[in-house]
Amino acid sequence: MVIEAKHYMTGFPIRLEIGEGIIEKITEIPDSESGNSLFIAPGFTDNQVNGCGGIDFAQKDLSCSELERAASILLKEGVTTFLPTLITDSHLNLVRSLGNISSAMDESELLRYMIPGIHLEGPFISPEDGFRGCHPAKHVRMPSVEELKRLVSASRNRIIQLTLAPELEGAMELINYCSKNGIVVAIGHSNATAAQIKLAADKGATISTHLGNGCANMIHRHFNPLWQQLSDERLTPSVIADGLHLLREEIDVMFKVKGRDNMILTSDMVFLAGMPEGSYSYLGTEVLITENGSLIDKHHNCLAGASFPIKRGIENILNFTACSLGDAINMASGNVCRIYGLTDRGTLSTGKRADLLLFEIEGNVLKIRDIILNGESI
Ligand SMILES: [Zn+2]
Repeated sequence: MVIEAKHYMTGFPIRLEIGEGIIEKITEIPDSESGNSLFIAPGFTDNQVNGCGGIDFAQKDLSCSELERAASILLKEGVTTFLPTLITDSHLNLVRSLGNISSAMDESELLRYMIPGIHLEGPFISPEDGFRGCHPAKHVRMPSVEELKRLVSASRNRIIQLTLAPELEGAMELINYCSKNGIVVAIGHSNATAAQIKLAADKGATISTHLGNGCANMIHRHFNPLWQQLSDERLTPSVIADGLHLLREEIDVMFKVKGRDNMILTSDMVFLAGMPEGSYSYLGTEVLITENGSLIDKHHNCLAGASFPIKRGIENILNFTACSLGDAINMASGNVCRIYGLTDRGTLSTGKRADLLLFEIEGNVLKIRDIILNGESI
């Protein structure tokens, strides 16, 4: 397959030659030869997807075909790699859900191709209202290396990220364990002090999960978990830039502080993504999908995840900050892949996976025209 389009970083027309699912050759071509307004970029990588299109990755009987259907919904939105994410739940439920996802991956080549591993968000998070977000209080618990080992085993070694609160007793030991066993550690749903956050980064934590969310509405102006996470350059924030979870100025500050290479976008989509407006039961409580796509947990006064794919975040961050198109796409591709050591994807270079997007840009809206997965047009 040969594709001619403009490079998403430079805007220069290029010709890509693809064979056996891999980018074999990239050459620059004269402007006049290309004659089209298409851009080409690597497919998006989303490190936090709890479900979509009515499919909840934590549902009791999740099947392979359901997870494949969710994957194809994501694919249509330009996502070629994603981490199914499970939040705080009972030990038995987590074991079951990790097993469901892992069995689906055993069964499906598509899923093994698109999913590098599972993100476990919780259950070792802050029990405090606000910081806990919509995670069910009754299942929040203290960090335990023994429990994590059992969960890793239930996932058949497929957990690649753990989001936890470093202020909890036993958290540092757990961070040590993860760092030694190739599990990326993220700080999230946490009310840690600056010293605790610094220590967590010393021990190997590298991500701040949806920074600015999973945080109480009222916090101390000096002593809160945000400043140290912003100032510590070892921590890469994941940002939900759906326009609902954070204000424009919050995202702009994060971008200015962290820079184009040290920030990632995430969707935090849940199964309600793509469902009509109305009232739904989720996490044992009532969640409203409003006209603008907010998922409101009425009883806990917080958002119950997000309903927009990562593409929306790219479009918003172009509006909210001074970043370039290339920066915005890297925050949803190359920057994310680097964290997980996914060296086979995430950039337009020879030898990388041919997981590609062809799109036009109107204003700051990305109009996807084709998606190429493993060298094949979808
Ligand atoms: Zn969360």
